[in-house]
Amino acid sequence: MELKYDFLIVGAGLYGSVFAHEVTRKGKKCLIIDKRDHIAGNVFTKEIEGIEVHRYGAHIFHTSNKNIWNYVNSFAEFNRYTNSPIANYKGELYNLPFNMNTFYQLWKIKTPSEAKAKIDEQRAEYAHILHPRNLEEQALVLVGKDIYEKLIKGYTEKQWGRCATEIPAFIIKRLPIRFTFDNNYFNDTFQGIPINGYTAMLEKMVDGISIQLKTDYFRHRAGFEHIADKIVFTGKIDEFFDYQLGKLEYRSLHFENELLDIPNFQGNAVVNYTEKEVPYTRIIEHKHFEFGTQDKTYITREYPDEFSKDKEPYYPVNDDRNQQLFAKYKELSLSCKNVIFGGRLGEYKYYDMHQVIENAMNMARSI
Ligand code: FAD
Ligand code: UDP
Repeated sequence: MELKYDFLIVGAGLYGSVFAHEVTRKGKKCLIIDKRDHIAGNVFTKEIEGIEVHRYGAHIFHTSNKNIWNYVNSFAEFNRYTNSPIANYKGELYNLPFNMNTFYQLWKIKTPSEAKAKIDEQRAEYAHILHPRNLEEQALVLVGKDIYEKLIKGYTEKQWGRCATEIPAFIIKRLPIRFTFDNNYFNDTFQGIPINGYTAMLEKMVDGISIQLKTDYFRHRAGFEHIADKIVFTGKIDEFFDYQLGKLEYRSLHFENELLDIPNFQGNAVVNYTEKEVPYTRIIEHKHFEFGTQDKTYITREYPDEFSKDKEPYYPVNDDRNQQLFAKYKELSLSCKNVIFGGRLGEYKYYDMHQVIENAMNMARSI
């Protein structure tokens, strides 16, 4: 059978779009398919009442890699948005990430040396934990009991649907601790959100490339297997192998959206609800990502959810069992010489956007 394409790319998210863009520049012919009715995967944005709405949760671009920053800026102009979420714990408001503002709000502490002494006192109780085995131990060793109980435990247990003692320690290392009055959630050099949204940015990436939406690879597998020289697969790796080694676990979300006839609901783009009793983890007010001044506002409540067959697999669950199972799938994947597995689902990793872009660029350039 004659091959029509050099690459069949399954998934029009960031990985698939960057890869397609890069190899197309080298003269390769690509077909991108996606089972959704739009491109851009989880970074998809849609304009509603003049506001760019992040349909699959808040997406703030950040990186310290100048090449990646220049790369994304070649497709879109970025605004100067800096993520500084607020935490609401039982009606008390705290700044995130943990910084001098948070320490003042918690303990009325005013100087970095007072804050360090207080945190040391809080951590002292856990000094015997030399090698934290899980997120709870890691958090207690890093910041002590007060911060753990008010700002971490409830949020984390809702997000992951399990006890903090059953969650790997590395997840919490993503949150910085600072002894300055700096509410910037990220430590990276570059940060912002594409003006006109991520969808417009990805539209530019895939401009001129053939795309078929509402097309599930597995529904038409036999036809697609021979349509291209190589397949780039950015869906679930366990599904690709028909779950033959067992099912990987994922965490899902569901979003409840509301258009409100007021200009400003919460005064910030992201407010996290850190107590367990509130069922959602955060409320996003999209206009604040772009300093919007519209008369209306659009908000989204983000609820963590068990993953099941008909839901979106947003997060890989990085515990030992899943990592071991993924390692077996990875080994199996090495036998598929004509398939490249990429992205958050294909590599079963909790990647941020800049990491996915870098991986896709490196993969495309290695070809
Ligand atoms: P995806 O965007 O998931 O794309 C995969 C695509 O493949 C999807 O469109 C899917 O429909 C398609 N697909 C899957 N299976 C099939 C199939 N069988 N047939 C056809 N198509 C298929 N990163 C940041 O840097 N900053 C943030 O602030 C941030 N916030 C986030 C918030 C949330 C709630 C989530 C879930 C993630 C966040 N991320 C953030 C991570 C970011 O979304 C990912 O790094 C990035 O979108 C991954 O791109 P991808 O191409 O790997 O996957
Ligand atoms: N986290 C927390 N409290 C918060 C925000 C985050 O305990 O208010 C923890 C939680 O375990 C979460 C992890 O930090 O899974 C990483 O948070 P991040 O905001 O980076 O997660 P993402 O935006 O990727 O969901």
